Amino acid sequence: MFKVNENYLKLQGSYLFSNVGKKVHTYQAENPDKKVISLGIGDVTQPLVPSVIEAIHKATEEMAVKETFHGYSPDLGYEFLRSAIAKHDYGKRGVEIALDEIFISDGAKSDSGNIGEIFSVDNKIAVCDPVYPVYVDSNIMAGRTGEYDALTGKWSNVIYMPCTKENDFAPQLPKETPDIIYLCFPNNPTGSAVTRDELQKWVDYANQVKAVIIYDAAYEAYISQQECPHTIYECEGAKTCAIELRSFSKKAGFTGTRLGFTVIPKELVSDGVMLNQLWARRHGTKYNGAPYIIQRAGEAVYSEAGQKETKAQIAYYMNNARVIREGLKSYGYSVSGGVNAPYIWLATPNGMKSWDFFDELLTKANVVGTPGSGFGPSGEGYMRLTAFGTYENTVEALERIKNL
Ligand SMILES: *Cc1c(COP(=O)(O)O)cnc(C)c1O
Repeated sequence: MFKVNENYLKLQGSYLFSNVGKKVHTYQAENPDKKVISLGIGDVTQPLVPSVIEAIHKATEEMAVKETFHGYSPDLGYEFLRSAIAKHDYGKRGVEIALDEIFISDGAKSDSGNIGEIFSVDNKIAVCDPVYPVYVDSNIMAGRTGEYDALTGKWSNVIYMPCTKENDFAPQLPKETPDIIYLCFPNNPTGSAVTRDELQKWVDYANQVKAVIIYDAAYEAYISQQECPHTIYECEGAKTCAIELRSFSKKAGFTGTRLGFTVIPKELVSDGVMLNQLWARRHGTKYNGAPYIIQRAGEAVYSEAGQKETKAQIAYYMNNARVIREGLKSYGYSVSGGVNAPYIWLATPNGMKSWDFFDELLTKANVVGTPGSGFGPSGEGYMRLTAFGTYENTVEALERIKNL
């Protein structure tokens, strides 16, 4: 008789975005004349830039001709893309990453969800709270998280690192020693970033306790402050303790196009075993590569024109972030984020519950946010707003919040 993976039965319903959707739908149905503006979207809205579209067209034409047709891609991804990554994302920042340390994939969600496969189920994970839900859920599926306590909203075998106003949304080194540490900077959902010096402390700590850091740098391209590292490998010693995840989704609007990569340095070793080789084996066995056309599109992001165009797109979103952050501040709200990330994290007024404030925003201002409590127990009392809307809608949403 077949048996299911019972770990899946432990998963808590992910009601966050479906609840948001339902509430908005109901409100809109009852108030058809109201124009609801969403600052809740965690997805880009601007089209792919011209250089990328051009590369997609060109690669598509190649696929139509016998001489230039491409079948399966090499296991790690095409060298033209890995070279561009090694040069632009690392070399230019003084970091040497070898081509066989870069694994091209279809994005950082799959990589962050799959990376746990190369680690023993006995490892104890540490996560920020609030957190990008994939890190926790993929570990629940693997059977690594223990039991759920509905009262606290926490798993018995997970180390939570609260990120709240009290610590300026920066996780503190945990008291209990973890084996695997998930860090995401610039952060989703809080929008906070880490300085090179602060991140160096994490790298030193991980090397000292022999933990591995899984570093999600999906929002690296949104960094505006000099003191914030674009890659964890800017920190000394990171190659012996850190795996870095990257994505083209927020960097170049590839959320529907799908492209990302993972870096695993060969120096990253556990008991004489190179994690790089385990991931290479996993990649080769379970994955057949991102499409040739899309890898060419990714290469175009690094062309001179591609860099200019994607930078302009990010500047557009970050101008929205500025409008939200400065607007809210001037109305007396307590806000963070929005400087190195497209997310603004806002403390609800008068200690309101996240969902109560969500209802108030929706019904009184016709603006949609994402309740912070959906990202973890320490997110209660906060709301996430995103800069991914249009400038016009963002300005109008802020005008409405002003009049609340
Ligand atoms: C959006 C996002 C990603 C990117 O995922 P893709 O699968 O590459 O689209 C990764 N991590 C975080 C924290 C994100 O918010």
